[in-house]
Amino acid sequence: MTSLVAPAPVRTVDAAVRERTDRALASVVVDRLDLGPRATFAVRDPATEGVIATLPDHTTADALVALERADRAGAAWARTTSRHRSDVLHRAYGMLVDQRDRLAAVITREMGKPLAEAYGEVQYAADYVRWYAEEALRPAGGYRESPAGGSTILTTRAPVGTALLITPWNFPMAMATRKIAPAIAAGCGVVVKPAALTPLTTLVVAEILVAAGVPDELVQVVTTTDAAGLSSTLMADGRVRKVSFTGSTGVGGVLLRQAAEHVVKSSMELGGNAPLLVFDDADLERAVEGAVIAKLRNGGQSCVAANRILVQDGIADAFAEGFAERMAETVVGNGLADGVALGPVIDERAVSGFVRLVDDAVAKGARLRLGGAALPGEGHFFEPTVLDGVPDDSDIAGTEIFGPVAAIARFATEDEGVARANGTPFGLASYVFTESLDRALGVADRLDAGMVGVNQGIVSNVAAPFGGVKASGLGREGGSEGLEEYQEVRFYNVARR
Ligand code: NAD
Repeated sequence: MTSLVAPAPVRTVDAAVRERTDRALASVVVDRLDLGPRATFAVRDPATEGVIATLPDHTTADALVALERADRAGAAWARTTSRHRSDVLHRAYGMLVDQRDRLAAVITREMGKPLAEAYGEVQYAADYVRWYAEEALRPAGGYRESPAGGSTILTTRAPVGTALLITPWNFPMAMATRKIAPAIAAGCGVVVKPAALTPLTTLVVAEILVAAGVPDELVQVVTTTDAAGLSSTLMADGRVRKVSFTGSTGVGGVLLRQAAEHVVKSSMELGGNAPLLVFDDADLERAVEGAVIAKLRNGGQSCVAANRILVQDGIADAFAEGFAERMAETVVGNGLADGVALGPVIDERAVSGFVRLVDDAVAKGARLRLGGAALPGEGHFFEPTVLDGVPDDSDIAGTEIFGPVAAIARFATEDEGVARANGTPFGLASYVFTESLDRALGVADRLDAGMVGVNQGIVSNVAAPFGGVKASGLGREGGSEGLEEYQEVRFYNVARR
């Protein structure tokens, strides 16, 4: 059987759409710190490689000014009522949604995802702001009697203090609001350091928050190419009481060492290597659809993307064929063009990484069912790719792929499937497809993962505690747990007669 052929990329963009997104980019206030002329760095559109903005490259001294402002504003903000913080966040939610066209345009231009997905991210990101507007009002304390009598213990939750928030490039809006919204709801000031590849969306979010009533200095955005300098300086400054990081496990380790040295409360959302298990008794169509979503959402550039698709022998051929056919229908191209479902990947380094992973897997015996190559011409495009029969010793099985390359492997028994799924240092998301509730819950219990998608390819939800186990991180974002990350528990031991 010959391989399927991936479609050619769509690079033509309607002039009116490009012009509208150019206007959105031109509207971004690129220097919120406003400390005067600085060295600069360029932000590029991954679909064209053209420069779309030039930003100040803030120094560590600038970051300290930002910290001073956030800390000062945070001290006053901590004394506001939860009703006030909630009202401001509700207003911010409305304004973010009202400005969805502008935000989606900026997301697509700096990160590359198709416009429809960018609109999805705007709503998802804004939903965190609405969720924490609501969570801000939830009871924050408790009451206990001392078992021996003589004391009443009152527990309360106080804002942790000023937080350093470091975000990655793959979801430039959602990763920002998932941290900023609970921090504001809890009563903290923040210094945000967005990825240098995609800083513009965060700048727009900060502008909208201020317009909604967040104090001017409370949310500081520092744009810099010296992330290591910023973090080592700020983490050593006693005013940073919390660090929340989303990114690679390597950088998470650096921050954890700094947090240990300076005793800073930490949450780490790190890398993944999500297994997606399809059992013989799965609904084939549902499994194919779920796997395509879990693989291709955000172009595969997601920490919860299906990294290893593990399929039981009895359904494996039918699944692999159906999956490859669905992947082959994917329209690749500039995220601004109509009908595009797979945009560019973030940079050229990512493209050459996929080439290496595919070549290695094929050399070790995997079968290439679809794609497998970079797309020539401007922009960083890679074909939707399906490898089948991927051996365990291939590099792709142990690497976070972070792109539109699917790796299918097979297993015989439930025990083998679970063991292979857990055979990784990571433990972020996993997925199970089966028509048996017993099996779904039984397998979910045995998976080393913070999150399990059952018969669906999406796990993220504002109400859910997003996060991982093992090398995938510490702490949770979203849900009520996400607010607690920005609070300290205290108690008052009150003498009673
Ligand atoms: P990255 O670790 O290279 O960068 C993330 C952020 O850290 C960026 O803002 C970067 O500038 C900054 N950074 C880099 N070096 C630093 C240092 N020494 N000190 C402080 N900050 C530093 O990761 P990336 O390539 O931007 O993102 C991809 C990674 O993020 C993947 O591993 C992915 O799994 C992970 N991710 C995890 C989640 C999650 O919730 N678990 C979500 C999205 C992405």
